[in-house]
Formats: sequence, structure tokens, C-alpha cells
Amino acid sequence: MAQNITPLIAGNWKMNGLRVSLFEVEKLASHLTSGEPPRCTVALCPPATLIAAMNRIAAPAGIVVGAQDCHPAASGAHTGDLSAPMLADAGAQLVIVGHSERRTDHHETDELVRQKAQAVLAAGLTPIICVGETLAEREAGRADAVVSRQLAASVPEEAAELDVVIAYEPVWAIGTGLTPTSADIAQMHKSLRDQLVARFGAKGETIRLLYGGSLKPANAREILAIAHVNGGLVGGASLLADDLFAIISAA
Ligand code: PEP
Repeated sequence: MAQNITPLIAGNWKMNGLRVSLFEVEKLASHLTSGEPPRCTVALCPPATLIAAMNRIAAPAGIVVGAQDCHPAASGAHTGDLSAPMLADAGAQLVIVGHSERRTDHHETDELVRQKAQAVLAAGLTPIICVGETLAEREAGRADAVVSRQLAASVPEEAAELDVVIAYEPVWAIGTGLTPTSADIAQMHKSLRDQLVARFGAKGETIRLLYGGSLKPANAREILAIAHVNGGLVGGASLLADDLFAIISAA
């Protein structure tokens, strides 16, 4: 990982977790506070229903709490949606936007993802903007083109000044146990870095690039050591404190 970027390990609980599940956060907090302090920033993005309660346990242990999505507007007639200022009010500091499950399940476009990222920044929070190709796109040799298009269109101009995080998550690696080869991850992250530098200059060197997709204790050390991998977005393995702590320790 780049020496001048503090890595971020962010857990995405997806649509999992009830209040009773917070004992895993208590366990993670105890792991993190009982030994050497972690050399990375640790974050958890639970369902919005748990943000406030999780924060009460997480914040004293230095764990940042985030959300998984937001509406692009700050308020208004959007029944069932949550805005970035509401998530901030509940204690979120990060918001995942453009996760492939939302791009697929809710037909989210790059344009909408960019608007959501702008809303997150306007609320004073940090967006984790997800990009990644499907298996069909990779097999057709279009992974680079697809991810480059998503990056260009989903990352707002405000990233020139404000803090954003990019997560490269090949769709076919999410929740499947499959991962790209280290060479493929290295190639994609180098390409993402080059594009960010071409667009944002020196600022582009500092933007965290996370890898996501079946990251687990068994592969974390190898993947997190790849150049331009500045941490990970972790789904399934983030639900268990022991697994997430093993990934944090690998970072
Ligand atoms: C994710 O959903 O962001 C993810 C990376 O999931 P998993 O780790 O389960 O593949």
C-alpha cells in the first residue's frame, strides 16, 4: 500500500444486522483497544437502522460508522429515502454510493451515483464510490473500458478539493469467493490511479483506492500489499468481528 496514504478497511453489512448483532461491534472494539492500535482507519457501514446505536459502541474504539446509500436531495417528498444530512445527523461519517447491488437492483446510473456523491460531500461526509465490471464485461475484454467510464462519470469534480474514496469491486467477485488475480488487481488499481492523477493532478495521488470482492482473512495480506490498494471494502467477512479484525491486522 502507498506509504503516505493511511489505509481504510471498511465493512459493509449490507441488509444484515439487528440490534442483537451489535455484540460483534463490541467484540471488534475490544480487539482494537486491547492491543497495538491499528495502522489503518476502521469503518463499519451497517443498515441505517443501526447507525446511531453502533456509533455509541464504535466511536470510543475509534471505529468510524458509515451508511450504505443516500438520496441525492437533502430533503423533500421522497418517501422511504434517507438523505446525507440525515445520515450525518445519525452519526455517519462515510456513505457508500454506487455499490453494484444498488446499480443492479435499483438501476442506478453513473449520473445518479455522481449526484449522490455530491450530496454526501455537501453534507460534510466522505463518499465511498464503487466501480467494477461484471463477469460478462471482463470476459468480453471490456473491464478497463467499463470501470474507466464509471470512474469518470461517477466521481464528481468536488473530488479535486474534498475527500472521496474509490472502491474497485469486480461484480463477479462480490459474495462469490472468487477474486481476480493479484496481477489483475494491480493493473486495475494502477489504471485507476493514473486516471485520477490525470484528472485531479497531485490530489489524485492521495485518493484512497479500496479493493472489494471476497476479501477475507486468507487473502487479505496478499491483496492489501498490492500497489495502489489502499485498503478494502469488506462484505461478508465484516459481519464477524474475528474475521474483520484479521483483515485489519493484515493491513
Ligand atoms: C461488498 O458487498 O462490498 C463486498 C465486497 O462483499 P463481499 O466481501 O461479501 O464479497
